[in-house]
Parts: sequence; C-alpha cells; structure tokens
Amino acid sequence: MFVVGLTGGIGSGKTAVSDRFQALGIEIVDADVAARVVVEPGTEALEKIASHFGKDLIAEDAHLDRAALRKKVFDDENERHWLEKLLHPLIGTEILRQLENASSPYVIFVSPLMVEAGQIALCDCLLVVDVPEHIQLERTMARDNNDAQQVKSIMATQATREERLAKADYVIVNDCALEQLDQRTTELHSTFLELTKQKNQEI
Ligand code: ATP
Repeated sequence: MFVVGLTGGIGSGKTAVSDRFQALGIEIVDADVAARVVVEPGTEALEKIASHFGKDLIAEDAHLDRAALRKKVFDDENERHWLEKLLHPLIGTEILRQLENASSPYVIFVSPLMVEAGQIALCDCLLVVDVPEHIQLERTMARDNNDAQQVKSIMATQATREERLAKADYVIVNDCALEQLDQRTTELHSTFLELTKQKNQEI
C-alpha cells in the first residue's frame, strides 16, 4: 500500500485537505481516530486506565472521559509516561491494521504529531499543510471558541513550521480560500496515483 502522510499544526487545515482526498475516493486513516478506538468501552486498555487512575474516568455511557484523563496527566510527567507506554504501541498497531485494510489506490494517513511521534516511518511520502501562525491561531479560535492563550499553548507542544517543512515532500499552503484547495488536491491526487503505479511496478 502506498501511504501518503498528511500533517500540519493545529487548525492548519488537515481535515479540510483530507476531506477533499476522501471526495476523490481515497481512504483516510486518522491517528486521532485510532487513539480513540484503542480505549473504546470493553477494551483492555480502558480497564487498565480505570484501575490505574480511578473508575471515575469512565463516563456514564461507558466511554473514557478524555478531558478528565488529560487533567490527571497534564502536570505529571510520570503519569503521562505511564499512559504513553500503554497507549502508543496499541495506537501504532491499530494504525497499521487500518493502513493494511485500506482498499483505495493509495491511502492518506493523517496525524498532527507525524514528525514528533516518529510516525513518518510509516509513510512513503509526506504532505504538509502549512499556514502562517496568525491564520492558524485565528481559524482555531473561531472553530473551537478557544482563547489565543489556549491555542498558543497547544502550538508550543507541536513541531514548528520549519521542522515540519524540513521533512515535507509536498506542501499545501493553506492561506487561500477553501475552494482553491480543490485544485491543489486534485493536482496532488494525480501525482500520488502516478507514484502508486511506480511503487506497484517495482514490487
Ligand atoms: P486540528 O489539528 O485541530 O484537527 P486541522 O488541521 O484538521 O485542525 P481544520 O479543522 O481542517 O484543521 O481547519 C481549521 C478551521 O479552519 C476549520 O474551521 C476549517 O473549516 C477552517 N479552514 C481550513 N482551511 C481554510 C481555508 N482555506 N479558508 C478558510 N477556512 C479554512
């Protein structure tokens, strides 16, 4: 399977871009979705989290209360490491499972932490959605109703634009109108189909 990695900072437009590839018939594997799948009700991971942090982390509908868990690990490096050690391998396995099961000509793998979490190793090439930081801030604040400080503190935990761009094979500069993304994704779709064909010929 030919895997195109798609990344960008918070609010850069990863979903706006991946929606367009999906409309072209390409399957999307999303690291955030995989991170939710591994702690669904009834999973061993959810039970381990509940016995480690307390049963009050399980909401009435049997799902993990993610906001409460974030609070528990926010200021505690040891607890964060415990959680990461449990979840990262499970998330990695789930992502691989979804990539292997994809049936479109190639697959887009979206992750906000592609560069930070080493997930780049799963990709044949990397597409970065890049926007100036002030646009990233404005769009995220408008979408999530957050204040600038909240968004800035998340941005501070992510790779910088320069770090991402240094790893990019392809870049979409998303400072344009949404409609202009259609043309750029359609162009890239042709490129990725061609690269997929080349990879399949090599095998
Ligand atoms: P996150 O990392 O938080 O999941 P993201 O990278 O997936 O974010 P999107 O949700 O796609 O980002 O975009 C952030 C917000 O900006 C959304 O409300 C989206 O509709 C809007 N947006 C994205 N691209 C554009 C654009 N070119 N013009 C105007 N608004 C845009």
